[in-house]
Amino acid sequence: MTLTYQVKRSRRRRSLAIKVARGEVMVQAPWRMPEAQIREFVELKRDWISRHLERQQHQLQALPERNWQSGEQIRWLGTPLTLVIHESTRKGCKRLGNELHVTITARSNPATEPQATIVRWYKDCAQLWLNEFFAVWPRANELNPVAWSVGSFTGKWGHCTRNAELKFSWKLWLAPEWVVRDVVIHELCHLREFNHSRRFWALVEQHSPDYQRAEAWLRQHGMTVLNPQFLDYVETGQGA
Ligand SMILES: [Zn+2]
Repeated sequence: MTLTYQVKRSRRRRSLAIKVARGEVMVQAPWRMPEAQIREFVELKRDWISRHLERQQHQLQALPERNWQSGEQIRWLGTPLTLVIHESTRKGCKRLGNELHVTITARSNPATEPQATIVRWYKDCAQLWLNEFFAVWPRANELNPVAWSVGSFTGKWGHCTRNAELKFSWKLWLAPEWVVRDVVIHELCHLREFNHSRRFWALVEQHSPDYQRAEAWLRQHGMTVLNPQFLDYVETGQGA
């Protein structure tokens, strides 16, 4: 089987690195490295690449595609909720037990309105979750954001600006709560360390002792949770 991969060259790079993400292989290479040398390296790592590709493709195939229709499941803090879509006079979204009731109006577009209504619900609920989180977050530890909000990032969970504002993707709240907490703490720690240095990770560990497990969870499930086709993950039994 031929292995297809993309090569990304950089003037700053001194060595080769391979990344397998979202079912694709990316090779990071130094600026002038000959193509043959890159191919040789990829061949050498073929088993490792295949293992990762297979695991990722298995994850993708195990999930149904997202259509935003009644009967589908969508997670809130890791708990699956069943979508129930009705038509009524007012748009809205309401959780009743393990069901998420979505009402659309007769005039709204049935192809796009359920999704738009549900995403709005996630953003509102995530904002409330954050407000509650920060209401009890100790002010004394110098990790105090000036603002926090929830948006729609395509490829990342959260973001910290130079102005000490924290922004998160609503998709983060599909993940279990212990993962959400870790991502928020991760971004908070960037208020003091605007990098991923050893000092940064030491600070994260101080506030989120289990951060390595959360980082592993995000690496493993980001491919399907952040992917608008799925917005879900396959449970692997590694704790709740
Ligand atoms: Zn970071």
